[in-house]
Amino acid sequence: MSTVPVPAPNPTPNPETSLAKPLAARKRRVFWFLAAIVVVHALVPFAFLPYTFVWWGIPVLLIGNFIFGSLGINLGYHRMLTHSAAKFPRPLERLWVLFGVCSLEGSPLWWVCTHRIHHQHSDEDGDPHSPKDRFYWGHMEWIYTAAERRQKLDTYGRYVPDLMGDKFLRWLHRGEKWLFVWAAHVVLLTAVGFGAGFAFFSTTEGAVQFGVQWFLWAVIVRTVYVWHITWLVNSAAHRWGYRSYKTNDYSTNNWVVALLTNGEGWHNNHHAAPRACSQGHRWWEVDLTFTFVRLLQLVGLAWDIAPVKVPKHIAEGSKESGEASPPPPSP
Ligand SMILES: [Zn+2]
Ligand SMILES: [Zn+2]
Repeated sequence: MSTVPVPAPNPTPNPETSLAKPLAARKRRVFWFLAAIVVVHALVPFAFLPYTFVWWGIPVLLIGNFIFGSLGINLGYHRMLTHSAAKFPRPLERLWVLFGVCSLEGSPLWWVCTHRIHHQHSDEDGDPHSPKDRFYWGHMEWIYTAAERRQKLDTYGRYVPDLMGDKFLRWLHRGEKWLFVWAAHVVLLTAVGFGAGFAFFSTTEGAVQFGVQWFLWAVIVRTVYVWHITWLVNSAAHRWGYRSYKTNDYSTNNWVVALLTNGEGWHNNHHAAPRACSQGHRWWEVDLTFTFVRLLQLVGLAWDIAPVKVPKHIAEGSKESGEASPPPPSP
């Protein structure tokens, strides 16, 4: 995980991911992923019934977001695997990856491959999820739309060669075994909820109600919440916000997304310095994910933390304009 490959520019944009290709022409869906998204979303309203709504669901949601969203996706999938922004003891690295898997956002190899392609082609032909043309495409439609490029082995060989040798990551990816790990975590977490219900109430009725409440808030609502705030980085933080750096894309620093994601919304900063472990570049750009890494560093559990280094030509561009380059309007 020490070196991040920098793929050579691709002179011929792949038609599967080309923005130049009419959107209507790439509607082949990944139905199992679409079905999972629909089913999990459809369960969310059940968390707001009188039988199931609980105020303790809110802190459970926020703590769940920190564990699975911030440590799993932000730190594990994104900063550690994609950008080699920091190193941790191997058991912790595995734990971050497992937390990411439990966020139901794809296998680590698929996620990292997609994100490295995004950095190479941000908001231009080849970007898997630019919201330049349509917000919804960049937010979530791209996820359940087939892109054959990311199913081909040579794409992985090109974009994630440093991770292909990792047996654990390969095992999760092959045969979509990461989905079984996700399912196992759902069963485990739900069992914990029912067990705690029995411990608290000592009645079957109380245990069932607590178990259902726990399942809905710790698994279903949390999964949907982490999904959308992650996706907002790709959509909202490529459209709305301020730009500190003149990067060659539409990335923005969006404080709402940054607060929701514990730091990932300082996305213009991230595009200006992709390897940097900290995505907050000013003192008030709070990045709790990075704060957590700093705490781990203090106790010797994190090292090789990549510093903020913005290329001179991008940093100097920051003096020219604080405005985002306005993307074309949505059709
Ligand atoms: Zn981006
Ligand atoms: Zn990135």
